[in-house]
Amino acid sequence: MKMFPTTRSKLIKNLINFSEKELLSYSKKRNFDFGTPHKNVSKLSPYLRTRFINEEEILKIAISKNNIKNIEKFIEEIFWRTYWRGWLESHPWIYDEYLNIGKDQTLPKKTGIKCFDYWKEELLDTGYLHNHSRMWFASIWIFTLGYSWQSGADFFKRNLLDFCPASNTLGWRWVAGLQTINKPYLAMSDNINYFTNGRFNPIGQLNEKVNLNYIEQRNGHVLPFVKPDKIEFKNFDNLGIILNKNDLTLHYIFDNNQMTYDCCVYSIKHENKLIDDFHKKIIQDILKNNKNFEFTENHNQIIDWLIKKKIKQLILPYETVGNTIFNNDKFKNKLKELNIKHIFFLRDWDRNAFPYATKGFFNFKKNIPNLINLANI
Ligand SMILES: Cc1cc2nc3c(=O)[nH]c(=O)nc-3n(C[C@H](O)[C@H](O)[C@H](O)COP(=O)(O)OP(=O)(O)OC[C@H]3O[C@@H](n4cnc5c(N)ncnc54)[C@H](O)[C@@H]3O)c2cc1C
Repeated sequence: MKMFPTTRSKLIKNLINFSEKELLSYSKKRNFDFGTPHKNVSKLSPYLRTRFINEEEILKIAISKNNIKNIEKFIEEIFWRTYWRGWLESHPWIYDEYLNIGKDQTLPKKTGIKCFDYWKEELLDTGYLHNHSRMWFASIWIFTLGYSWQSGADFFKRNLLDFCPASNTLGWRWVAGLQTINKPYLAMSDNINYFTNGRFNPIGQLNEKVNLNYIEQRNGHVLPFVKPDKIEFKNFDNLGIILNKNDLTLHYIFDNNQMTYDCCVYSIKHENKLIDDFHKKIIQDILKNNKNFEFTENHNQIIDWLIKKKIKQLILPYETVGNTIFNNDKFKNKLKELNIKHIFFLRDWDRNAFPYATKGFFNFKKNIPNLINLANI
């Protein structure tokens, strides 16, 4: 069975099926990694990351098939990604520090730790790992094999279909004992044995005891989230929208407001063939369903498109930390030269949630019912 469909119609069919058959037992089963095709979890992350399907759409379907009270854990997980993204917005130097550290660790072909070797192959073959296996893998990488967390985060970055700068960097930092200071996540053989349903038992192979002595680095204060101005949905003249991997459903908001616009989808080649194929196919699906959308793969083509369509007002997906594509002087100066106004559009989903994401998840979580209300689901 193909784990990651590349059309919206198949994805929605799968989501309905998951919501009807699996979601009720999600909270009980979600920590088990039973192996592919990972039926007990949603496998929505590559789509959420690109918003090929967005949070509101997913929760609408999930709630239409279940009593909201019975799927609170799933809703909470959907908000984890939002939370990490918001948290990184208020701690941007954490991502810069990660980027600036040399990462030259090459992974030995076989480590002899069966589960670890298996997960490495699974990730390379499918672009995906179950959440619990990501935690075990990261923990073994750092505490048993002795590699840096940054090199591990980079390995994931190169191979995950759902790579998200916030969830990945902060996930690795959390395992390493940096996010919750000196409280690392330690992979234990009996825990792996239980939650893989007996598929693996690396007894005696893991370093199950560590003492950390990090000093909490307060090398920068928490930045409050400054919301960009809300736009008024009036009829702009010559409105253009660019979709990219930060948001592939942004145009729906403008459809819902009965606005007319021209649209192009921007995507560049990914060096990992599996990821590149996946991106190409989901974009093909968008282009198939929207015959008037154009495809662009470099900045010159974007400029040509802007000129050809006589765009005067341009909407681009908001770029959170680690996700910069167009928010640079060169591009913005070019827009100025062409007399094109631009807005990096922040969805209400993020606008409402990010201000609460400056501290721990426990604090953030209290706001979920209110955030759901605001989302009008
Ligand atoms: C070291 C490490 C690295 C990670 N790197 C990434 C990454 O680059 N991109 C990414 O999207 N997630 C990452 N995660 C989080 C999580 O593992 C994946 O989101 C999840 O496994 C995706 O599978 P799913 O869609 O079947 O999840 P489900 O269990 O079905 O959850 C539904 C959705 O909730 C969100 N979610 C669930 N758990 C988490 C979590 N712990 N953190 C953030 N969001 C979560 C995801 O968007 C997911 O699609 C990482 C976790 C760890 C421990």
